[in-house]
Amino acid sequence: EWKKDVIVRDEIDKYLIDGKDFIDEEKIHAQIANAKNPDPEYIRGILQKSLSIKTLAPEETAALLNVESPELWDEINEAALQVKKKVYDNRIVFFAPLYCSNLCVNNCEYCGFREENCDEKRRILTQDEIRKETESVIDEGHKRLILVFGEHPRSDVDYMVDTINTVYSVYRDAPVSGREANIRRANINAAPMSSAKLKKLKEAGIGTYQVFQETYHHETYNKVHPTNTLKGDYRWRLYALHRAMDAGLDDVAIGALFGLYDWRFEVMGLLYHTIDLENRFGVGPHTISFPRITPASGSSLSNNLPHQVSDEDFKKLVAILRLSVPTAGLIVTAREQPELKREVINLGCTQTDASTRIGIGAYSDQKTEEDLDKKQFTIGDPRDLDDVIREVAELGYISSFCTAGYRCGRTGETIMGMLSHCVEGKFCKLNAVLTFREYLNDYASPETKAIGEELILKEIAEIEAEPYFAERPHLMEKFRAEYKDILLGKRDLYL
Ligand code: SF4
Repeated sequence: EWKKDVIVRDEIDKYLIDGKDFIDEEKIHAQIANAKNPDPEYIRGILQKSLSIKTLAPEETAALLNVESPELWDEINEAALQVKKKVYDNRIVFFAPLYCSNLCVNNCEYCGFREENCDEKRRILTQDEIRKETESVIDEGHKRLILVFGEHPRSDVDYMVDTINTVYSVYRDAPVSGREANIRRANINAAPMSSAKLKKLKEAGIGTYQVFQETYHHETYNKVHPTNTLKGDYRWRLYALHRAMDAGLDDVAIGALFGLYDWRFEVMGLLYHTIDLENRFGVGPHTISFPRITPASGSSLSNNLPHQVSDEDFKKLVAILRLSVPTAGLIVTAREQPELKREVINLGCTQTDASTRIGIGAYSDQKTEEDLDKKQFTIGDPRDLDDVIREVAELGYISSFCTAGYRCGRTGETIMGMLSHCVEGKFCKLNAVLTFREYLNDYASPETKAIGEELILKEIAEIEAEPYFAERPHLMEKFRAEYKDILLGKRDLYL
């Protein structure tokens, strides 16, 4: 009964044109094939368009996907970093994933949580356990969570709402300063649902709603997601974020699981998804994710992947996504090894997770080694948040825990407009400094604090020298007052 109730056909059909969705495979393959040996001057023109913060046309992204010259790749990588700095400055936003349940009715071939893999170890966290997990994550210094739910009647939308309420109710004393700390933004990664259910999530105060298409290639999608399961409906998933927009959730996040099909095709799929959202709602995705398949227990597919993406191609796809969708945040996760994460941060990634535990209940059970049987995939960077923050500070990036945007109404179309005019980055720089100040006082180890203090002084000097702020003395006055108040012990101040 529960399964029958889920897919609301009208909510898909209203978006189809002539019965077709927006992924035209023949067209995408032709665009990639017709863009072979692109003229370097054409590529340079594309880089200039991206530097003016415009979403690229599919033909332009297809041309970038066909570049082979190493010299031209140097120019592409340089432009990708410039676009990132223009829109997002030198910030890295941190978050932690919290896996709430590993019960799932689907049978995705690549996933350790699939139904066929079900045993007595599968479970769903109680609200008391959610509270304990949240306490542990807050104690690390996090302010943003992404709550991850399997698709199952026990983790339905009411369970999600209860979980969000629990997360927002937890307060802790920070270990170094004793100041009050909490989670300020809970994002959701959950199965597609109807607009009516999505409205409940909106009312519960979620930040971003994230649904990965996994693969945009229809045949591959149907192969790895058996069609007798809920996830087997490609279009229900493809339009999940359109329904979210209909429900008033305008911060949405897209992603593909790289390794299921040709990576160039998936990049084009992510771009077409962006363009369709922009055309229909005037706003594209808040973030784009591009995890690569890693081994999962009980998954035969993860050892047999004809489309596995090499590190070199991974770097290329990050740079091309940065240029193709200049306003979207790009997320590199702890699936990747630290060295590669460092490299892609310099190619345009803007967000990452740290202190990541992906087992159910793994933050609070204090295990250092996680049991693969309880996890969806394996992680490549198990380092603590403090270690990663120190590393990115050494690279010249400021860590941000800012959650001001959605609390000040800077979401959806508003934030995208500000990002495309490179204005949001200016607010974010102020908020990054304020939240980094909190982190340094509340959580940082002595080593991280030493490096962080130098960095924060440099950031403040840049802010003081920035003409945009010089023209807005009231904003600067407020910033200076809030910075001082944080030093005196106040918390959760933002602009
Ligand atoms: Fe379930 Fe998601 Fe795993 Fe598929 S990928 S089996 S939907 S948890």
